[in-house]
Amino acid sequence: MKLGPTAGAGAIPDPAASGAGWTAPSLGLVPAMEPIPTKLCRQRHPNDPDADRCRLCDHPFDGAAAVIDVPPAVVGRLLLEDGTAIDVVADLAIGRSPRGDGGRDTLTVAGSQVSRQHLVVEVRGWELYARDCDSTNGTFVTRRGERGRRRVSGDEAVPVRIGDALHFGSRQALVVPARPR
Ligand SMILES: [Zn+2]
Repeated sequence: MKLGPTAGAGAIPDPAASGAGWTAPSLGLVPAMEPIPTKLCRQRHPNDPDADRCRLCDHPFDGAAAVIDVPPAVVGRLLLEDGTAIDVVADLAIGRSPRGDGGRDTLTVAGSQVSRQHLVVEVRGWELYARDCDSTNGTFVTRRGERGRRRVSGDEAVPVRIGDALHFGSRQALVVPARPR
């Protein structure tokens, strides 16, 4: 893993280097949303202020990392098995006919075993959670490095992390790091 000043995928631009504050377009930031407290690793990946390690590069925080406010960035990206990719910046409803109420984004996916409202991927700070929407065939998650699928309940949102896979009907999506646009 390369460490250093080179900003990789999902990195926050260094304001000291650019001299112009945050470079919003490169991250697909959403100015309308409230800034959120963020801890940056050495590669300037945004993280939860309480994180012990960087969620993207696994670099450990030594306790000296400053917590700063940044505009909300892309928390993660869903990569479907057909090549479709969508950046997750807000709660995302997924299904054959997903509803975008409550400010949710929507991702319409075809598939006979996919329910009209199948699941929602929720954004909480820098974390993603999956919740099943009482779908006919259920939502399942495979953890990175594991083989078995765990069922995602509709009552309790399940955290999903980079490298996990979501299964819904005949479709699946891999959670990958956000990339600058
Ligand atoms: Zn990092």
